[in-house]
Amino acid sequence: MSRKFHVYGNWKMHNNVAASRALAQAVVDATAAARDRVVTGMAPVFLSLAAVRDTVPAHPHLKVLAQNGYPAPKGAFTGEVSFALIQDLGCDGVILGHSERRQIFGETDAFIAQKVQAALAAGLEVVFCVGETLEEREAGRTWEVVGRQIDAVLPGVAPAARARLIVAYEPVWAIGTGRTATPAQAQEVHKLIRDRVVELWDAAGAAELIIQYGGSVKAENAAELFACPDIDGGLVGGAALDAAGFAKIIAAAAAVLR
Ligand code: PEP
Repeated sequence: MSRKFHVYGNWKMHNNVAASRALAQAVVDATAAARDRVVTGMAPVFLSLAAVRDTVPAHPHLKVLAQNGYPAPKGAFTGEVSFALIQDLGCDGVILGHSERRQIFGETDAFIAQKVQAALAAGLEVVFCVGETLEEREAGRTWEVVGRQIDAVLPGVAPAARARLIVAYEPVWAIGTGRTATPAQAQEVHKLIRDRVVELWDAAGAAELIIQYGGSVKAENAAELFACPDIDGGLVGGAALDAAGFAKIIAAAAAVLR
């Protein structure tokens, strides 16, 4: 079983429409050489999704993702955007369960599980984020927390939708801090996740599951992280805002022989 590397940029609340369009074009151009080996994703703010969708050519290895969505199909939910609307715009997927959504917006495991089910039902790919805080890691509770997050969502994913689920392990203490998990720390949790998925799904599903690492991934540390057997790419925040740097991360993934 050889899983393809998936390297996605989470642009968070950065870039207006023109800047998003320019960044998307620059990423498409700078990553062309790795196109057949690495699946590349870009997640701009909602307001830039249409422009980025128009800019990024249709290709199975180029994905445009939203950063959030609401689980009801339609209705009186002022300010929210349904997964059906995201799908209708031509987007490929959505990032859910990001630690900023959990911490700043109070999203619970149960609400995130509802969102994941709704997004998969709408036909989208889902990047489902999990990860422990520094306090939880230092208290030796990393797997208790990450295992709980995994158990809240993966049992509800129907076999037919499993290929559209990506898990992103993002230790909260490594996000936007410049402090990256060591390859050994990341690999340990990725392996625990994959072993748990054998129990929740089955061995074949676990072997095919893409597990991205996120947390201060940059050109300088990408190669050593991607060399780990259970790390199948990255979810990249800050370093994805620079096309040349992001392309180096993608090139690091393309250089790994599996
Ligand atoms: C993220 O927001 O998913 C992330 C990993 O951010 P950064 O790469 O900036 O740590």
